[in-house]
Amino acid sequence: MTDSRQLYQEMILEHNKKPRNWGLLADATHKAEGVNPLCGDHIHLSLRLAGDTVEAVGFEGEACAICKASASMMTAIVKGKTRADAEQMVQEFRDMTTGKLDPAGPHHLGRLTVFAGVRDLPTRVKCAILPWHTLHAAFAGTDTASTE
Ligand code: ZN
Repeated sequence: MTDSRQLYQEMILEHNKKPRNWGLLADATHKAEGVNPLCGDHIHLSLRLAGDTVEAVGFEGEACAICKASASMMTAIVKGKTRADAEQMVQEFRDMTTGKLDPAGPHHLGRLTVFAGVRDLPTRVKCAILPWHTLHAAFAGTDTASTE
């Protein structure tokens, strides 16, 4: 337990210092804005799909450390994935952070399991989940995603 908490802290710090895929795409095919009024997280996400594959992804915004790290790791993992695979990860991430998916069982989340611990911190679940709601909204053609 101590190891997973430590890994979680390290990943959050690392992705906040150097967020992956920071900046919006000039030639996005899909985009959405995500807001979490409870914490004040506000992000913009842009995607470029080539056929059914996420070819490029970028984000920016004002967000707390958990939200920013989740967004950074999300963009890194969905790049090169198909829309269906990415949507499956949205579902799995949501299930993991709400306690419905066992991170020790089968899933496609890879290192994103460091976020499993937020299920014990209800106010932080929304921060971690916001980028994923926003990704889902971008795919669906919805402009705005909100955790409320
Ligand atoms: Zn937050």
